[in-house]
This record gives sequence, structure tokens and C-alpha cells, in this order.
Amino acid sequence: MSTWLLSSFNIDRLDAAIDLAARHLGPAIGLLTLKRCQDNEPSRVVTATQLRDALIPLLSGWRHSFPVILRGFPMCTVPGFEHLDADLVYIRQGVTVSDNFQRQDEFMSMYGPAVAASANPLPECKICSLRDICYSRQVFREKPNDPGNLPISSSKDPRQVLVANRTDPKDVELTISRLIAGKEAVLAGKQS
Ligand code: SF4
Repeated sequence: MSTWLLSSFNIDRLDAAIDLAARHLGPAIGLLTLKRCQDNEPSRVVTATQLRDALIPLLSGWRHSFPVILRGFPMCTVPGFEHLDADLVYIRQGVTVSDNFQRQDEFMSMYGPAVAASANPLPECKICSLRDICYSRQVFREKPNDPGNLPISSSKDPRQVLVANRTDPKDVELTISRLIAGKEAVLAGKQS
């Protein structure tokens, strides 16, 4: 499994860079995770518009033998590919994933911060059909005054996204209730 961090350093040459990696490492890459680089340094932060411009053509024309999943992208930066959201897989299954991407000497839970970032929703999120299953909204808080960094509310049925994300169709309603309850518990400080 390979993880690729997307930042301002590579967003404009993502397609070519993945091609290069595939040529040299193709058989060794069983699964590629694209993860958004979160950073306090604004020059390294990629905006929502940059993500849309890079990811939608990349995923639409995916030509590699290995599958790709996404972590850390709001669903409205990948319209049509929301089901590739790996954070949603973990969160709906109740799995706590920790990583040390923020601080190399400390493993931190992804779940609590992701949910916390979805609190106090932006106006677009309040009317978005995916608001109960979309967690990764931190990008909008990193460059709040950038006109290219805005959410775009969706009218897509969240049930379709969950089924494409491999939720058993008979469990979809229960899954949505659990996601809402889990989010409320985190925001109330009852779960991390
Ligand atoms: S508008 Fe907000 S809730 Fe909807 S997909 Fe975008 S970030 Fe998620």
C-alpha cells in the first residue's frame, strides 16, 4: 500500500507523478491512498478548487492496475467519486485510525479531529445532502478568505454513496443513524 500526500508541491503534476511511480513500482503498489496534506503553512495548503481541478480528471481517467482511495478530501472536491472516501469506511465501521503525519513523534486519532472539523458547518454544508457522511472539511478552515476555497453543496443521495462505498444496502439507514449519533457523541465530548 502506498500513500501519496497532496500539497502545493505536487498538485499540478499529480497525473505525471503517479504515471512515473506506476511505471517503476506498478506491481508493488497494491493500493494507492491519496491524502490531503494538512499544514499550518499556507503556502503548502492546496485549495478546494485546486483539488477539484487535479482530482476529477485524474479519477475520471484512472488507468492504473491498482485501485485508489482518498483520505482528507471533502466530498465536494471529488464529485462522482465520493465513494472512494476511505475515512468514511473507517468511521462507519467504528475503526479508530491513528497516524503520525502531523507530528512524527506522536500518533494521533484521525476520527475526533475530523469530526471536530465538521462542527459549525459552513452555509454550503448546512444545505448539502451529504452533510451527515462528509467529515473532511478542514481545508475550508485553512484558507478561509480564499475565493477558490469554498464548499459546493451536493444534492446526491448519501445512500448511493454509502452503497458504492460498500455498505450493505440493507444496513444503509442504520449506518446513517450511527454516523449521526457518533458525530454527536464526539461533539458532546463522549467519544474520541
Ligand atoms: S458542501 Fe460541505 S458537507 Fe457537502 S460535500 Fe462539501 S464539505 Fe461536505
